[in-house]
This record gives sequence, C-alpha cells and structure tokens, in this order.
Amino acid sequence: IKGLVLITGTTSGVGLNTLKPLLRFGWEVIAVNRSNKRAIKIAEESLTKEEVKNVHFIEIDLSNLDDVRKGCDEILERFKKPINSLICNAAVYKPRLKRPERSPQGFENSMAVNHFGHFLMINLLMENILSSEREIVLNGKSTLFKPRITVLGTVTANYSELGGRIPIPAPADLGDLSGFKNGFLSPISMANGKKFKPGKAYKDSKLCNMVTVQELSKRYPAEEIIVNSLYPGCVADTKLFRDTPWLFRFLFPIFQKFITRGYVSQRLAGERVAKVATYKEFAKPSVHWSWGNRQKTGRKAFSQKLSKRIIDANTSKKTYDLTKLLVGLD
Ligand code: NDP
Repeated sequence: IKGLVLITGTTSGVGLNTLKPLLRFGWEVIAVNRSNKRAIKIAEESLTKEEVKNVHFIEIDLSNLDDVRKGCDEILERFKKPINSLICNAAVYKPRLKRPERSPQGFENSMAVNHFGHFLMINLLMENILSSEREIVLNGKSTLFKPRITVLGTVTANYSELGGRIPIPAPADLGDLSGFKNGFLSPISMANGKKFKPGKAYKDSKLCNMVTVQELSKRYPAEEIIVNSLYPGCVADTKLFRDTPWLFRFLFPIFQKFITRGYVSQRLAGERVAKVATYKEFAKPSVHWSWGNRQKTGRKAFSQKLSKRIIDANTSKKTYDLTKLLVGLD
C-alpha cells in the first residue's frame, strides 16, 4: 500500500510547491482546494503527467463548515485506505479590510478559513488518520510510519520571537477569548471580542492553529499520532500577500532577501513542509519546527521556543473547547 497525504491549498505558494517533493518521496496525494478546476489546471502546469496521476482532487471551501463536512464525507467514502499524513496549509490574509468579511456561517472569514475549517477537518478525519497503516510502501520500500498532522504556523503568531512582537497592527493575542465565548458572530470579529484589526485577525487565526497543535498533542498520545507545526521561513513572494499595497509587495521580498535574510523560496518552503509531514527525523510531537529567521545554508531544523500565548495549558484547552462548540462538534 502506497502512503496517502492530504494537503489543503495547492493552487499557489507553499502548498503548490509541497506537491512535487511529496510525489518524489513516493506518496499519493489528496489535494483539497476551493476550485478543483483551477487546482487541476495549475497542478497539470507544474507537474509531469505521471506525477498528476498520483494526485486526487477534492473540492472544499474551508470558509464554509457545511462544505468541510461534505468534503470530508466524500474523502471517507472515496478513498479505501486511510490518510497517513494531513497537512493544514491553506490560508487567507487580508490586512486592508475596513470591515470583517463573513463566512457562510457568519464568522470573521480569516479565522473561519485558517482555523475553523482546518479544525473541523482534523476532527472529522481523525479516526480515519488514526486507523492508517503503520507499514506502507514508499518508492518500492516497506516503511514504518506513524500517523501525522502538520500545521503551517508562523513567526508573527509567536510572541517569543521578535517577528511575533511587531505592533502593526498588534501582536497575536487571544486575550480572554470572550469573542469566542460570546458566539463569534456579528458584531464580534476578534477572538478577544475587541475592535476589528484585519492584520491581527490573521495572526490570531495562526495563533489558534499553533495552539490547536499543542492541545491535540495533549489529547492524543504520541504513540498514536504525531502533531506538529512549522515555520518554513519568510516566503515573501507568495499570493498570501495579494491584498497588501503594491509597494509592500514590491519591497517586502527585497527587505527579506537583503536586510533580514529571512527570505525562503517557495520551492524550499514546499520541500520543508513535505519533509516535516513525512520524514522520520520530524516525527516528534508538539514541536514547532523552524530553520530560524535569518536563513543560513545547511542549517538544520530545530524546535522553536514558543510563547506562553501558545503553550499555556488553560488557553489551549479553552481555545480547543470553544472552537469545538463554534464549529458544531459538541
Ligand atoms: P498562498 O496565498 O500562496 O496560498 C494559500 C492557499 O490557500 C491557496 O491555494 C488558496 O487557494 C488556499 N485557500 C485560500 N482560501 C481558501 C478557502 N476558503 N478554501 C480552501 N483553500 C483556500 O499562501 P502561502 O503559500 O504563502 O501560505 C501557505 C501557508 O503558509 C499559510 O498557512 C500561511 O499562513 C503559511 N505561512 C506563509 C508564510 C509566507 O511567508 N508566505 C510564512 C509562514 C507561514 P485559492 O487559489 O483558491 O485562493
């Protein structure tokens, strides 16, 4: 049996660039996107005909919880073998909004896509992932593999790093979670129930992604599943920044390449994600893998120290339980 990896958001950037290495390592891939038509066209343009045969496309708009449920049902029905490794990659970042965009369920949209959609997907697929084969065949060789979930985190959600303390518009912080507690519907748009700040809404959603990794690692023993996150580096030229001012889009990659030296190519970022999601050396639970903020050739990945806002047991339990309620799992 060939191993199966599911990844969300493969139409551009990191997700698109994770496909090739996954296929090269010998995996079969389920690519989850909001438009199959676009996802297939883009995959056909960047992969060989042989490679595309090993990619299966599933259409899910992560902003819509009904769509996530429908798509997960389709996954569970269509694939006769369980998923060995799940990668939560898709995201939206809209720092210039004046008012929050709302998901079909009425939630602030970046939290809905980046956190709620993935959270529900993880929970609906968990049993399937846990039941996946421990012995799989990769490139003709039998390999032992523990089920795995990998989530894309970021430096701007980690207050322990300089990049996590940038006050534009504010560092990530879930506060007392009163926004979640009070239902997270209009007029509420932030997890802490305070005024809408679009850039912070993205950072908060990524903080929720990283908090979820910590909490899942507590709820599911490491003997059963490895859950971790990573920061692949600053991939400053992806479409993630499509809604920033053009001058920012022009200057940001230059700044990251020559000043901070944090810049990482989309190709290298994709390779890093594929490795964290499948290589043995990354099979350590609740680790946030990083290659640092200043890229150095040959530097090995390390376990990045995380802020209290991510690892605090009370926050992670509350965030997890409230999210469960909001996505309709309780
Ligand atoms: P891109 O914008 O290039 O890719 C985002 C992907 O998410 C696209 O495939 C997009 O599809 C998909 N997506 C967006 N909304 C939805 C939705 N509602 N349903 C399903 N899929 C959706 O961004 P990156 O490659 O830069 O980002 C990938 C991940 O890496 C994100 O989680 C991001 O937070 C993280 N990251 C990125 C960094 C960077 O510097 N770029 C740094 C650290 C982390 P579509 O084409 O349909 O919009």
